[in-house]
Amino acid sequence: MSSSEIVLRAREVKKSYRIARRELPILHGCDLELARGERLALMGPSGAGKSTFLHVLGLLDRPTAGQVEIDGEDAWRQSLERRARLRNERLGFVFQFYHLVAELTALENVLLPAMIRWNSLAFDAKKAQFYARASELLERFGLSERMKHRPPQLSGGERQRVALARALFHDPPILIADEPTGNLDRETGEKVLELLFEEQARRQLSLLLVTHDERLAARCERVAHMDAGRIHNGLRG
Ligand code: ADP
Repeated sequence: MSSSEIVLRAREVKKSYRIARRELPILHGCDLELARGERLALMGPSGAGKSTFLHVLGLLDRPTAGQVEIDGEDAWRQSLERRARLRNERLGFVFQFYHLVAELTALENVLLPAMIRWNSLAFDAKKAQFYARASELLERFGLSERMKHRPPQLSGGERQRVALARALFHDPPILIADEPTGNLDRETGEKVLELLFEEQARRQLSLLLVTHDERLAARCERVAHMDAGRIHNGLRG
């Protein structure tokens, strides 16, 4: 596969935290490649640095050293505005604990990225279109009767489906999922996963999936392992 088809690449990513004037190294130089349309599982014990790495890849947390390239663009070298744009347009996130806003309805939660991205005038101009798109996603995810519910009134599986709809609202080419079923019982988790994999295939998404579940990892084309801040098999071929 040519390098131009790599949509997300980490080169020698290092991250350390400064605690009580001491540097605490967490990531020791991590390399990763994710190709267009590929499903990659990232496994590893708790504390290995997986979430830290995802935050760096997702442009949420700056690395101490190294690069993150999104479609070949060195993202951490860009301006704050450019990075925010890359994050909004290229990346979707699903987290273990959903991260929905409790005060907003399911529909409003899905619309939240659009509300943040557009100013209120621009949002109002496209409001009908945005609402139709958000409703359509929620309907497809079996939530047509739950659109006006707030997260506390939803089950865990329903919350995660709302979170998935929110992540896909902007049609990002890359989806980063951090233990998306980690907080769900097995049966509910499997339903959410079926949806996730279905959308991945339908949209030809590049999926980076952090999981503890071997069965889940087995459904991905590649599995990378992280241990004590180092990645094994992060590169293709
Ligand atoms: P994983 O997701 O694989 O369980 P994490 O990335 O959450 O691992 O954590 C890796 C290590 O980094 C842990 O030892 C954790 O205590 C440490 N760590 C994570 N975030 C911070 C932070 N903000 N400040 C200091 N240490 C942190």
